[in-house]
Amino acid sequence: MKTRAIILKKQNINEYDQLVICYTEEFGKITAIAKSVLKPSSIQAMHLDIFNLVDFELVAGSASWRMPIITGAQAEAVCSNLKSNLNHVAVAYFFAETIDKLFFEYQKDKRLWDFLSSLLVELDSDSDDPKEFLKSKQMEFLNILGYTFNLNDCSFCSALTGGKLVAYSIETKGAICQDCFLGGRQGIVLKGGVWQSPEVIGALFESLAEKKLYSLNFLDFVIR
Ligand SMILES: [Zn+2]
Repeated sequence: MKTRAIILKKQNINEYDQLVICYTEEFGKITAIAKSVLKPSSIQAMHLDIFNLVDFELVAGSASWRMPIITGAQAEAVCSNLKSNLNHVAVAYFFAETIDKLFFEYQKDKRLWDFLSSLLVELDSDSDDPKEFLKSKQMEFLNILGYTFNLNDCSFCSALTGGKLVAYSIETKGAICQDCFLGGRQGIVLKGGVWQSPEVIGALFESLAEKKLYSLNFLDFVIR
């Protein structure tokens, strides 16, 4: 099996081996094993750095190793500019963690592959305001997921509120009107009526993933 892959995450197993979680062009998200990659003599190691775009050769795992084994790895892009910029690392880390936690394995999605590969290229070249860049990429990502903000009605009472939506509900992934909010519904207050704030977007991604996203703290520390 051959595919291009972007490394999202790595985890040490055994003494010298690593699990490599990546998003591939051919198969979607997969977890593969890199054998002996932690030995000092390994030449694969440098090719398997996180955020690298890599050409992979994989073989099916044996009965004891159900996952595919990486038999060849050649980095096509190592994104060294990205990795030397903490803002850019924080953005890449956010999407790597989100994709890892949001998607099942072996669900190929060309739009997601295109999104992720162009994200890394953009982060590797000089980009503008990281905050604006992050927000626009988060919106693009939500679009790929098929999520749209409902800015028209309250997700609890369905009242057409004409702009009186005051908070975001993690429970319903939608808006809360003033009446429901004052009536005790829990939510994140929309500061200045703004939806696309880091707080709301972060909470939205966590509620979609149904897991804590550790990269949000890092983003918060580095970018906001
Ligand atoms: Zn309501």
